Amino acid sequence: MSRQGHSPLAPGSIIGILGGGQLGRMLSLAAARLGFKVHIYCPSPNGPAAQFADHEVNAPYDDLDAIKRFAQDCDVITYEFENVPQSSAAVAAQIKPLHPNATALKTAQDRASEKTFIQDTAHVRVAPFAVVNTSAETKHALDEIGLPAVLKTRQFGYDGKGQAILKSDTDCDAAFAQLSGHNMDAEVPCVLEAFVPFKREVSIVAARNEKGETAAYPLTENVHKNHMLHTSVSPTTGDNGQAQALAIKIMEALDYVGVMATEFFELEDGQLIVNEIAPRVHNSGHWTQDAGCVDQFELHIRAICGWPLGQTLPRFKMEMTNLVGDDVNDWEALAREDGTSLHLYGKSDPLPGRKMGHVNRVIDPLD
Ligand code: AMP
Repeated sequence: MSRQGHSPLAPGSIIGILGGGQLGRMLSLAAARLGFKVHIYCPSPNGPAAQFADHEVNAPYDDLDAIKRFAQDCDVITYEFENVPQSSAAVAAQIKPLHPNATALKTAQDRASEKTFIQDTAHVRVAPFAVVNTSAETKHALDEIGLPAVLKTRQFGYDGKGQAILKSDTDCDAAFAQLSGHNMDAEVPCVLEAFVPFKREVSIVAARNEKGETAAYPLTENVHKNHMLHTSVSPTTGDNGQAQALAIKIMEALDYVGVMATEFFELEDGQLIVNEIAPRVHNSGHWTQDAGCVDQFELHIRAICGWPLGQTLPRFKMEMTNLVGDDVNDWEALAREDGTSLHLYGKSDPLPGRKMGHVNRVIDPLD
């Protein structure tokens, strides 16, 4: 369903968010600033997002009746994580506008369809890849892809989970054993990717609305630690114009509405290869909250509600650092730092590997 005549949703309207984590929390805060009401749909009660919502519904993501009732109460629906079942997204989209659309969700949920779409429909470069299901197919595909290579499960992989690096074709059996939970008879839908000898990992966070207007933040450099984003610095050097143009090309091909993140590998010569897209606000865009422009959460709310997108040019060079697990215990010292903004997610247990918050630091004013 789409909104009649692209007229903007008025303050007081209800935004439904599928998902209840920190991204939903920061979207809810941004929505509240613009006078919207937020309904959260997630299985467990009182999570980071629901703490700020006007209403929450607790039901499994695949409960189509509950999704239907939830959608009926909302004016527009969005999601904050990409593993929302496709059937639930389709049911919601029949009742109220769903942004980003079900095609974007479906494309991003499966690494094979994502890479195929980016390469063949959007005509943007990705690493050479092959679709494989077994160790034997992988060995065969290595003839074309070459070594080293990266084997990734097609679905539900994140923060380096569901991945194995292959240095020789004798690594295939062990990699499949790892990805299949040691059931060697099981087929595991995977993509085999050429290993990219990248210089840096960079990303673009950008948005598009129903009118086709677009806005993009500058290129951001991302450093990972233990397969998880550690710091993001923006603006960074590199071909900002090319990166923004590629991200927008992908959004246009998807008829995308909302904020989308595009993650790139930057080669030694500055060329960019897309690693993946995220059909939502993204950890590498958190720095925008304190950069003196419309932040990515407000940008997403503006885009899905048909508002003008606003100013995405930062006034400061920023660095974002994630607070993972026990890092959050430093909150008092961090709160004392000049030029540092602390963002905590309201989670009680600082388990190892759990994102508990982040800090944004002003590095320099920009001219
Ligand atoms: P992903 O889950 O696809 O984002 O991959 C997690 C991390 O693994 C990336 O941020 C890269 O550091 C690394 N990686 C993934 N794919 C490749 C590749 N094809 N070549 C080199 N490194 C990769």
